[in-house]
Formats: sequence, structure tokens, C-alpha cells
Amino acid sequence: MSTIFTKIINREIPSEIIYEDDNAIAFLDITPKAPGHSLVVPKKEVANILEADEETIKNLFIAVKKVTAMLKKTLKPDGFNIGLNHNHAGGQTVDHMHVHIIPRFEGDNGGSMHSIVDNEPKEELASIAKMIANKA
Ligand code: 5GP
Repeated sequence: MSTIFTKIINREIPSEIIYEDDNAIAFLDITPKAPGHSLVVPKKEVANILEADEETIKNLFIAVKKVTAMLKKTLKPDGFNIGLNHNHAGGQTVDHMHVHIIPRFEGDNGGSMHSIVDNEPKEELASIAKMIANKA
């Protein structure tokens, strides 16, 4: 069964498409947190970055850069948050990889990446790094 984003790609359901190339599409989020809040989606139906091949990731982020430039030029935000929610614990609700581009304006009451979660580690950074790097 295709995802809701594949249905958007196939024009089976409507959306406000702002960019499309052979590998990716971008459209406005239906529940925007800011003017121009956009989603950039690979046409290949993959759930997340770990399931995506390198070509898909490369092409997706080329599209992300293009859409960010389009938003910058037209809406003239002061900044952006650009990121992916990964899996249910990470806030992902649509299991088709997508990059949120959220234009940010001075005084918009938003936060940074640090405002997403508040789960400071109890272990030393060095021991966490050692564990991660040793298993890489
Ligand atoms: P997630 O939480 O999975 O990172 O984000 C999924 C996003 O897709 C949500 O922000 C939600 O508003 C958006 N979304 C879900 N269904 C639709 C839809 O049918 N059309 C559009 N344009 N956006 C959608």
C-alpha cells in the first residue's frame, strides 16, 4: 500500500506542491508551524534515512537546499530549522522519509534543536563517545 506522500507524488490527493524533480518533491505541510513550512520527500518510498540508499539521500538533500533557497528568496525568513523526525519515538507520523523545512523569523517564539527533548545523559560524554565509536 502506498504512503500518503506517494499519493501526493502521484497526484491522487491534492497538495500545494512548490518543487519537483526526478527524485524528490516538496509541498507545504498541511499543518504548518510557520509560513512556508515545507516537506521535502524522496519519490522512492523509504521509511527513514537508515533504509535509504546513498543516491536517494544525496538527491533528497540537493532538493532540500534548492527549496530552502526558494523559501529564503520569497518569504525572507531570518533562519530555518531543517530536520527529520525518525520513528515514532522521534515524532515521525508518516513512514515515508521527509525533511521538514521550517522558516524562522525573529520573535516567532520557536526554539532550537535543544528544545525538542530534555533527557540529559547521566554518563560522561567521553564514555558515550567511546561506546558509539567502538561499535561503528
Ligand atoms: P512527521 O511528524 O512524520 O515528521 O511529519 C509528517 C507531516 O506530514 C506532518 O507535519 C503533517 O502535518 C504532514 N502531513 C500529513 N498528511 C499530510 C497531507 O495529506 N498533506 C500534506 N501536505 N501534509 C501532510
